Amino acid sequence: MNFAIEDSAEQGTFRKEARAFIEEIVPSTLEHMADPVDMSYEQYQIRRDIGRALGERGWLYPSMPKEYGGGDLSAENVAILHDEMTRIGLALPPYYDAGGRMGAPTILVWGTDEHKKRFLPPICKGLVRTWQLLSEPGAGSDLAGIKTTAIRDGNHYVVNGQKMYVGSSHGADQSWTIVVTDPKGERHKNLSWLMIPMDLPGITVTPMDLLATGGEGGSGCGVKNAVFFDNVRVPADNLVGGENNGWKVATTHLEVEHGGMGRLADRRAITDFINVCKEKHDGWAIADDPDAREEIVNLYIESEITKLFALRNHWLSHTNQPRSYEGSQYSLRRKLSGLDIGEKMVRIAGPLVLTKDKRWAPVNGAIEYFQRDSITALHPGATTDIQRVIMARRLGIGGREKEKAANLR
Ligand SMILES: Cc1cc2nc3c(=O)[nH]c(=O)nc-3n(C[C@H](O)[C@H](O)[C@H](O)COP(=O)(O)OP(=O)(O)OC[C@H]3O[C@@H](n4cnc5c(N)ncnc54)[C@H](O)[C@@H]3O)c2cc1C
Repeated sequence: MNFAIEDSAEQGTFRKEARAFIEEIVPSTLEHMADPVDMSYEQYQIRRDIGRALGERGWLYPSMPKEYGGGDLSAENVAILHDEMTRIGLALPPYYDAGGRMGAPTILVWGTDEHKKRFLPPICKGLVRTWQLLSEPGAGSDLAGIKTTAIRDGNHYVVNGQKMYVGSSHGADQSWTIVVTDPKGERHKNLSWLMIPMDLPGITVTPMDLLATGGEGGSGCGVKNAVFFDNVRVPADNLVGGENNGWKVATTHLEVEHGGMGRLADRRAITDFINVCKEKHDGWAIADDPDAREEIVNLYIESEITKLFALRNHWLSHTNQPRSYEGSQYSLRRKLSGLDIGEKMVRIAGPLVLTKDKRWAPVNGAIEYFQRDSITALHPGATTDIQRVIMARRLGIGGREKEKAANLR
């Protein structure tokens, strides 16, 4: 991967093409909200339309193979596409699609040809939205301890149980879900993954009221939910990766979730914050103060380091390089630097930064949301403690055998 600040001639041409296309498909009615809970159904639909337009060109999931609706783009061009989406305050995908973003690369590794042909194109073309359903009231960090069962009955699995902290506002078409298929089986050998259509009878979705839910790049998810399954009959051919082989499948899913492929979406609030610090109000800018200037530079460096880790992982995965602890390293870094950046923002600009007053009016509460989000962001996709545990195992520290990174691609 080329880290040059200037694009090559070829990359420059692609950037122009991407920018022109994105400008063409993004309507003037697109609004940005600091807290994704405030995203209306109409604004969500605008993001879905943008997703479908990108998907038609293979640009919604640009790293995925063309035959499944992806773009097969180079690592550099994928990074350019992310850049250009970030420029207009959106992520790729431009809506919450965690089950697609993490399920699709997992199905690519573990699905049969039939699964790939059936599940991947609708995700890559933006025709469906997919949630990821892992956590339960008694099983977050200890994912192997889940209790939701899926018991085979003829051509179906009958699903019963509860997931929590999952999904988003405005529903989903399907959920990429880990379940117990052998309740009496040995731990780690009793699990499977099902793609569950969300319109099946027996599914109830109940919103949860959390401090924040993630607003990364304008594609934020809104609310999180508890999902209840009451005798839900799921077609048996929706089981991906083999019955009771779900822990192996989970290792791939979790590798993606922990950041093994990098996550190139930027946190818009950081750019917004720095821009406001540079603006003069009554002849004075926050950045005029030398102490503030020093802290702003530190804050910027923090965010750049995280971005570089993401880019490195993106490149490692795109070029199929051997990997070990890098996914968890990026995740840990991202979570801790988010907290640190949040604290720095208040130190630099004072508590007014958390309001919509005066010079902070244009960012419309984005920094206040950043504070809340940087706290809750410590949890999803494995907590900071768990990321440390994984890194230690992969570095061969501790009593256990040195752990290998999971399969990607
Ligand atoms: C905003 C948000 C979005 C989320 N989105 C989703 C989603 O889309 N889908 C989904 O399935 N889940 C989602 N989750 C759930 C998330 O995955 C869990 O919160 C996370 O895995 C932690 O599990 P837990 O909350 O049950 O905490 P616990 O596992 O109970 O952990 C409690 C504390 O103990 C520590 N701990 C636990 N085990 C160990 C250990 N072995 N070593 C050291 N320390 C340990 C943890 O670090 C934590 O500090 C989301 C959560 C949040 C907050």
